[in-house]
Amino acid sequence: MIIECPHCDSRVECLVRGEIQEDVEFGGPPTKVVLLECKVCHNPLLGITESLQVGENEYEWDTPGRLWPEPETNLDWGIPEIARNSLIEAKVCFKAKAYSACAVMCGRAIEGVCQHHDPKIRNLQTGLQKLKNDGVIDERIYNWGEALRLSRNLGAHATTEKVIREDAHDLLDFALAICEYVFVLNEKFDRYQKRKLNQPNP
Ligand SMILES: [Zn+2]
Repeated sequence: MIIECPHCDSRVECLVRGEIQEDVEFGGPPTKVVLLECKVCHNPLLGITESLQVGENEYEWDTPGRLWPEPETNLDWGIPEIARNSLIEAKVCFKAKAYSACAVMCGRAIEGVCQHHDPKIRNLQTGLQKLKNDGVIDERIYNWGEALRLSRNLGAHATTEKVIREDAHDLLDFALAICEYVFVLNEKFDRYQKRKLNQPNP
């Protein structure tokens, strides 16, 4: 079975070490989850595949999609496009070892968060301040955002200082966490609050 191995950064042939077929519901095609071992680096991977009809009575398992380690583009759909595209590009830059470019893209993702909140915002510094003042983010997230902004500046301007891999990785984690906090968790909490308000008191 061929799957994209994140350790080898390429599509590799894998050994199937285990599999569980899932129950077919609502007439969908049979699916199975497969535990795979990369033939090159021997790391474990988890994939999911579904049965494809290739002839009148012939079926084949499709190329599996990766479940774990989680693919880079697996972003929550609650994150709007204005931040989402930059996050995806940040992940691509990181994968390509372009760490300064990754820092710049992380900064752009957060700029997207700021502009989504207030389209009049023109820079990251005032944007983060406004998000904090309006109660969209708390003090800790604000500090993360500031750290990200400073590293973004390092990546964006012509200096001899480089953004190292570990910093780029942290920045990517921060950018993802900020987007999830603002767009996913806040939304969930609002929905939860509304549900509670509509529930009769016991
Ligand atoms: Zn591998």
